[in-house]
Amino acid sequence: MKESLKKLMDLLPDDADGAIITSDLNRRYLTDMKSSAGTLVFTRTAAAFIIDFRYIEKARSVITDYPVILQDGLFTQIASFFAEQKASRISIEADTMTMSEYHSFCEKMPSLTLLSDNRLSDTVNKLRAHKTPEEISFIQSAQDITDKTFSHILDFIKPGVTEREVAVEMEYFMRKNGASSLAFDSIVVSGVNSSLPHGVPSDKKIENGDFVTMDFGAAYNGYCSDMTRTVAVGKISEEQKHVYDTVLTAHLMAAEAVLPGKRYCDIDKVARDYIYQNGYEGCFGHGLGHSLGLFIHEEPRFSMTCDEIIEPGVIETIEPGIYLEGKFGVRIEDTVLITENGIKSFAHSEKKLITL
Ligand code: ZN
Ligand code: ZN
Repeated sequence: MKESLKKLMDLLPDDADGAIITSDLNRRYLTDMKSSAGTLVFTRTAAAFIIDFRYIEKARSVITDYPVILQDGLFTQIASFFAEQKASRISIEADTMTMSEYHSFCEKMPSLTLLSDNRLSDTVNKLRAHKTPEEISFIQSAQDITDKTFSHILDFIKPGVTEREVAVEMEYFMRKNGASSLAFDSIVVSGVNSSLPHGVPSDKKIENGDFVTMDFGAAYNGYCSDMTRTVAVGKISEEQKHVYDTVLTAHLMAAEAVLPGKRYCDIDKVARDYIYQNGYEGCFGHGLGHSLGLFIHEEPRFSMTCDEIIEPGVIETIEPGIYLEGKFGVRIEDTVLITENGIKSFAHSEKKLITL
């Protein structure tokens, strides 16, 4: 959220004396100003926000710690800001700046040396991983809308209704109940389609004996929620039941295992080992979870390769799944806050199998 000038300056790599923030989400994170344009520039002693006429009035009311400048020749304005501050070694966001932007910056501002490594991006990403109480409350509000939507949609799902109709109804309900937008395009897949982890809602009608997997979330004040539930429609097979129970147990075991001091990959392993030992090796082809915030996918992740140490204050999803090609799939996902003692789930929707 809004960082003091001092916090901005702490982002600078040691050998840089200035920085340019151009990405939408980091700009918003560091200034609180939501816009599709604008440039934040800062040094160890000063900052300025340059933005065009469409946003200037709003920006001046949101940003009060440093000057907000009407954009009128961006490159000249950036160059003169740094010249006044006697800064010439400038860090950029290497992970989001395009090659063409980079070349324009170099060409139009020859007095500056742009440091094109990842340090600025990495530092902002690390800062974003630890959520403030305000950010946590926004994510809870987003999840509350998501839970309410799940209860609502259970009455809507029945044989003959299409996946697309379910997805549209969920979207309408989320928007009507306070979502600023969807956190991402909802996944609603049923029957054979449910073996596609990221399938797109189709005109397929839901049938008796189907699993219906819904992966969806509201955004509230820009912050995302993310939840997946799989429900059964009518009578399902013993195999379907076994797969559901295996995924649910893997989910609960992983949730129980989370503790600061362990590594993120250790938690992925708990769920993965259990799924593989139950005969589903090769059927869980994605990581156990990811962080989220302004983005739906942020770092760090509960993945096989993330050996970072788990820290409190970080938000993660836990989402094991089993996908049997050509048959069906199950995924159960909650978004959780990591605390000193384990986790606290944002979601309150039932995880035990619901049969409609
Ligand atoms: Zn999800
Ligand atoms: Zn997710």
